[in-house]
Amino acid sequence: MKNTSFLLLCLSCVLILSISAAAAPQQPGAATPQPAATAQPPKAAKPKVSILATGGTIAGSAASATQLTGYKPGELTVEQLIAAVPSLKDFADIAAEQIANIDSSDMTVDIWLKLAKRINALLAGDTSGVVVTHGTDTQEETVYFLNLTIKSPKPVVTVGAMRPATALSADGPLNLLQAVSVAGSDNARGKGAMLIMNGQINGAREVTKTNTLQPETFRSNDMGFLGYVVNNKPVFYRGSLRKHTTEAEFDISKLDRLPKVEIIYGYADAGLEALNGIIAANPAGIVVAGVGNGTLSGAYRKPLEEAAKKGIVVVRASRVGTGPVTRDSTDDAAGFVVSDSLNAQKARILLMLALTKTKDVKDVQRIFDTY
Ligand code: ASP
Repeated sequence: MKNTSFLLLCLSCVLILSISAAAAPQQPGAATPQPAATAQPPKAAKPKVSILATGGTIAGSAASATQLTGYKPGELTVEQLIAAVPSLKDFADIAAEQIANIDSSDMTVDIWLKLAKRINALLAGDTSGVVVTHGTDTQEETVYFLNLTIKSPKPVVTVGAMRPATALSADGPLNLLQAVSVAGSDNARGKGAMLIMNGQINGAREVTKTNTLQPETFRSNDMGFLGYVVNNKPVFYRGSLRKHTTEAEFDISKLDRLPKVEIIYGYADAGLEALNGIIAANPAGIVVAGVGNGTLSGAYRKPLEEAAKKGIVVVRASRVGTGPVTRDSTDDAAGFVVSDSLNAQKARILLMLALTKTKDVKDVQRIFDTY
């Protein structure tokens, strides 16, 4: 019985070997030349994708593969990130730049301006698309800033990881590969800046971090993802109707700073120390992450109305996380702006950019209704 099975196995091996030999492509220099009709067309040129690295957990390193918190973000260089994913070169010709190497809690307006200017310069040339590697903590702010300041329809994608590069099942390498494949895809043009992790393509305006630890932390909440990355190709189901990139009115090309805007949080029985401190520093704008529909407590309302009279632009946002903040008659009376459905951290970005153009609260409201 044993001998019969062995014989059958040998026979099938011989059969498989002869079939694969017959199917094997002709080796160069082989006797029979390929007929011209069946010659392969030359491969289309690969897209040119620039990876601009800024640090974060995707570049993080821990003492062991099982350490998933308490590691050091921003340790690996962009060259090391690329070396960890050899198949990147199958999808694009890669160029790399290290813009910063920080924990994204240390992201600054300076770095945003540097990043946006560099991306605009690259995309004005022969670069097909850009990937920004970034910590996840403030990535939603950076991607929205780029959405409003990049002057090209070419794809701009931010990407990060929730597990450090040294971790068992690190999520960074596949996220990076998917980000590069989307940045190099014609299909991804004109969609605004995007944030890609876990095979999910999020639009810059809606995406937000929702979980402190899990890889599937980024969500676009009520509006949903723009699409998925399937087999390393973007598949889109919807697009943002809010203006972005080539249609945005903001020009940062000659700016080296932005007007100062601070955020204050609303909560039951909030004291006035923080708010008074902010107003005393005389910022150009204040965003309030108010309770519910951006509601201000009686205690907050009075100093904020006085601040608005002094010319500080006050925007009511909400700490809730989804849904628009709606205007009411008190906003007209006080000269306040409402954030629509932008969360407070994104409302701050839009307000900083709006204030580079206007201090007129009606015009600032128009900007919030547009982007
Ligand atoms: N603290 C890290 C950062 O934002 C977290 C991460 O990247 O996931 O840089």
